Amino acid sequence: MNEPGRILSGGCLCGAVRYEIDYRGEEASLCHCAMCRRQSGGAFMGFVTVPRAHYRLLKGEITYRRSSDIGRRGFCAECATPLVMDYNYEDERTGIVTGSLDDPEAVPPMLHWGVESMLSWLKLDDGLPRLSTDEDPEFAEARRLAERSC
Ligand SMILES: [Zn+2]
Ligand SMILES: [Zn+2]
Repeated sequence: MNEPGRILSGGCLCGAVRYEIDYRGEEASLCHCAMCRRQSGGAFMGFVTVPRAHYRLLKGEITYRRSSDIGRRGFCAECATPLVMDYNYEDERTGIVTGSLDDPEAVPPMLHWGVESMLSWLKLDDGLPRLSTDEDPEFAEARRLAERSC
């Protein structure tokens, strides 16, 4: 967290929403959970979780939809591009959808998350750590309380 911040810009497919983050090396992950799969229509979603104070909306507005008792997902209402994911128990941080960054190469994933739901036909050989959702105590506790998945 001591490295100097790097401004990374991003936005949705239609251009109605633009944002930037002040990136300081926070954790980036690929989530294999079933809800990310549904929302993205892809095999997984990438996220980089940054302090909300380091995230700035520059243009347009993000529409939020509560996707479970513990989380909400933000997207562009015009083109439906997924942009952010917030958990109730993390008021200070927000998850930016890596694929909405102008330069996703700047934020390579550091781990796989939700691997209990990872598709069997997805063959990845990146050597990154693989965690199930139960292995994050904060998440597991929030989910236990809500009895829902992310
Ligand atoms: Zn859009
Ligand atoms: Zn997920």
